[in-house]
Amino acid sequence: NAFVSLGLSPSLSRAVEELGYDLPTPIQAAAIPAALAGRDLLGSAATGSGKTAAFVIPVLQRIESRPRPALRRTQALILVPTRELAMQVGETMRQLGQFFAEPVKLSVLYGGVSINPQMMALRGGAEVVIATPGRLLDVVAQNALKLSDVGCLVLDEADRLLDGGFADELSRVLALLPARRQNLLFSATFPDTVQALTDRLLRDPVRVEI
Ligand code: AMP
Repeated sequence: NAFVSLGLSPSLSRAVEELGYDLPTPIQAAAIPAALAGRDLLGSAATGSGKTAAFVIPVLQRIESRPRPALRRTQALILVPTRELAMQVGETMRQLGQFFAEPVKLSVLYGGVSINPQMMALRGGAEVVIATPGRLLDVVAQNALKLSDVGCLVLDEADRLLDGGFADELSRVLALLPARRQNLLFSATFPDTVQALTDRLLRDPVRVEI
């Protein structure tokens, strides 16, 4: 499988095979090795490019390769603009993580539904949180989640995150994260607002344009 040459672990290689991914898409071929090496990333890619797996694979592999303490601290945070996208990313993560010896604990948080079940589900800890910014802040305000161990931040569809009126919420989330972390940012378009965010957020990023 051509994914192996990108540095995938055996369980992730098996999962991509199971999903019928024969060849990495261009964004995956460029983004996965860079992200596995710990680099920040600026991905210019639209839906349909395979961008979801391009960040889900490195996030999962980072978790798989480290000690997994019983108390599952949140190590990766994936911010998305909509509930639909949150659910899609969650599903991709479940599929790609299906062969891990220990299942990855993930939480998907979005607004428009009751907050209580989401907070209950967080009680056993979540190694990965996939969230829309407003609901994430609500959950943090209720002391149901700590972001102080997040070592990897993903912004998916950053242009929609910013024009969805989430700019203030996004700033508040960023202020809760440790300064030392990896940042992966994906956007289909680069208006001034996204440009300003990338300048502020990314440290010597690998740029991938599709
Ligand atoms: P995305 O751009 O992340 O929304 O992905 C678009 C679709 O492409 C999804 O249905 C994925 O399951 C599929 N996909 C992602 N990567 C690959 C790949 N390497 N080979 C075939 N299909 C893929």
